[in-house]
Amino acid sequence: MPKHVKELAVQGKQVFVRTDYNVPLDAEGNVTDDFRIRASLPTIEYLLDQGASVILASHLGRPKGAVIPEMSLAPIASRLAELVQAEVLFAPDSVGSEVETLAENLKPGQILVLENLRFHAAETQNDPEFSKKLATLADVFVNDAFGTAHRAHASNVGIVSHFEEKAAGFLLMKEIEFLVKTIESPARPFTVVMGGSKVSGKIDLLKRLADVADNILIGGGMAFTFLSAPPLNHNVGSSLVEEDRIQFASDVIDLCLAKGVNLVLPSDCIASREIKEDAQGQELPIRALEDDLMGLDIGHRTRKSFNSILDESKTVLWNGPMGVFEMTPFQEGTKAIAEKLCEITKKGTTTIVGGGDSAAALKKFKLDGCVTHTSTGGGASLELLSGIKLPAFEALKGAK
Ligand code: AMP
Repeated sequence: MPKHVKELAVQGKQVFVRTDYNVPLDAEGNVTDDFRIRASLPTIEYLLDQGASVILASHLGRPKGAVIPEMSLAPIASRLAELVQAEVLFAPDSVGSEVETLAENLKPGQILVLENLRFHAAETQNDPEFSKKLATLADVFVNDAFGTAHRAHASNVGIVSHFEEKAAGFLLMKEIEFLVKTIESPARPFTVVMGGSKVSGKIDLLKRLADVADNILIGGGMAFTFLSAPPLNHNVGSSLVEEDRIQFASDVIDLCLAKGVNLVLPSDCIASREIKEDAQGQELPIRALEDDLMGLDIGHRTRKSFNSILDESKTVLWNGPMGVFEMTPFQEGTKAIAEKLCEITKKGTTTIVGGGDSAAALKKFKLDGCVTHTSTGGGASLELLSGIKLPAFEALKGAK
């Protein structure tokens, strides 16, 4: 394991902290969800308490090397200033002489937020010159950006070799510990609830889970690729099916059978001919899906069977919504799972929610905070759970 930030001596030092402030903004540039900003506070507050000055760097959106004012980190610096008891300064860029002067003059207890790293294409190219320029700003490096840990960029990989003193922050460590522990030594029964639109993108994860889980419950659009795959061969109407993943779905079904994993697919669904907010959903068994009907949520029978397995579980990992939860007629299945997760968490079950859409669903139903751990990184958590090493985390282990 790399060092934890608590193991570093930082008094009087300038500490460069890579955070993940890729947060949603509204049309006026206000932060609409500050979950990731709040999640960065333990590391920042710890460093300030230790007498360090803190330089925060992040990307926001995909400006692809262009300076796009709507993707400025200025609103994030303002929001941070409301959350933290410290002076927050904002730099007009992430590198260059002006930023260097601001960083040099930063006093212990102060924070400097750099402008969006991705205003420079060099950031995502992991450009050595750009890494070097970023590194000149500080004495110590801390990575606390789990959301980008699966990417090798200048600010989380290239930069690291320039520092003698480097560590993972509280958030990055917590994410890794939770997710790795969950998959390597879960309290059993260990149940995985998978959903979302597609099987592709979750192939490595499904393979690995078939090795470690006791139950795999599949809902969402991806269930229909499984339902139409041999040996099940259901007609699923116009539901989402990835033809080129049918063979893979069959292999997963076989693998689960061979390993004794209880793979559960929906037996009923909320179906409609249209995906829209005022659509009329009808509840049907899967076998009743006619050609122009799409399954857009799990039905009551499926919810009941998923819930009874969840009631018996000691560890649950949830990744992906059970239906098109963004729309009222198709949100109930996802809501039922979210509510069940909250209920079993209170009874002592460890519940982990992979980031992205499942985290957004919890928030929509005002249930965020009631599970054991909600990951701040969608892609990074999927890769980590799939057994893929995260380059930014690995880089922290290396020597200067
Ligand atoms: P993903 O990006 O693969 O995790 O998928 C998330 C998206 O899947 C959400 O935006 C949902 O609206 C969508 N989704 C969930 N269930 C279905 C379904 N049955 N049919 C089509 N889309 C779905």
